[in-house]
Amino acid sequence: MEDFPRDLIELEDRFSTEAACWDYLARLRWPEGFRCPRCGHGQAWSVRGVRKECAACHHQTSVIAGTVFQDTRKPLRQWFRAVWYVTSQKNGASALGLQRILGLKTYVTAWSWLHRLRRAMVRPGRDRLRGTVEIDETYLGGLEEGVAGRETEKKALIAVAAEEDGKGIGRIRLQHVEDASAFSLHSFVSASVEPGSVLHTDGWDSYNGLEFYGYKRKVTVQSRSKRKPHELMPRVHRVASLLKRWILGTHQGAVSHEHLGYYLDEFTFRFNRRTSGSRGKLFYRLLQQAVMTAPVRGSQLRKGVRPGPERRPRRRRR
Ligand SMILES: [Zn+2]
Repeated sequence: MEDFPRDLIELEDRFSTEAACWDYLARLRWPEGFRCPRCGHGQAWSVRGVRKECAACHHQTSVIAGTVFQDTRKPLRQWFRAVWYVTSQKNGASALGLQRILGLKTYVTAWSWLHRLRRAMVRPGRDRLRGTVEIDETYLGGLEEGVAGRETEKKALIAVAAEEDGKGIGRIRLQHVEDASAFSLHSFVSASVEPGSVLHTDGWDSYNGLEFYGYKRKVTVQSRSKRKPHELMPRVHRVASLLKRWILGTHQGAVSHEHLGYYLDEFTFRFNRRTSGSRGKLFYRLLQQAVMTAPVRGSQLRKGVRPGPERRPRRRRR
């Protein structure tokens, strides 16, 4: 379909009614056309816009049930504007900014909307990085950086992977890791990089042994080189400094450890699509992923719980 508004005027024109928003979400959710989840019939009619009723068995399905928009009491028009605001701006939005622009009554609502949308920024089953990939860790936290050594409590340790693309950067992956142990870093690498790729790392011991998982290694040892770290692994350092600027600038450093992972997801979502010519395409992608992403309860949202198969509520027994 790939059908999206090109600019704000088009957005306002196209999504001026709830029905238009419901219709757009329904097409994203059922790109091959609606299928009744109970009997598989392909014909349905809309009931009050919100629901589809199967023409054969009369089973009703909500367009937003099972998506991040489930149980919302706000108009979808407002949600669409939130998605537009988040995707159309180079640095995204802070909760305060979103609250102001949408005229939301509380900061908490704006905050929870942004976090719900962040849950949709990681595409399930996305491809891992490949080719030659720089890997390093960086500290994020407080407002200061550059503490010697690899252990710290108040700061968060972020593992960074960046594909080499000529002299530039391809795609990236970021993860908040517990420590710089082999266990943490090997888990990060195997989740983020396709085996067979070349890993470009420094001489930190924890990276040893990745060859056993099918990776090739290129090690640049700092002590043997007179160059500074940002010259040894320029891509990772560029990503890390952009990330810090974003966290400290757009979000003014007000990011807690338990929610940090979602901010990293948002940064990655935007970074990996930075060359996309159209902002409207990001709007489309995010809505498309939002209707494929399971809803999160408010309590889970506040605790920063990752939705996963093991945490989904059990089906009620009949
Ligand atoms: Zn049916």
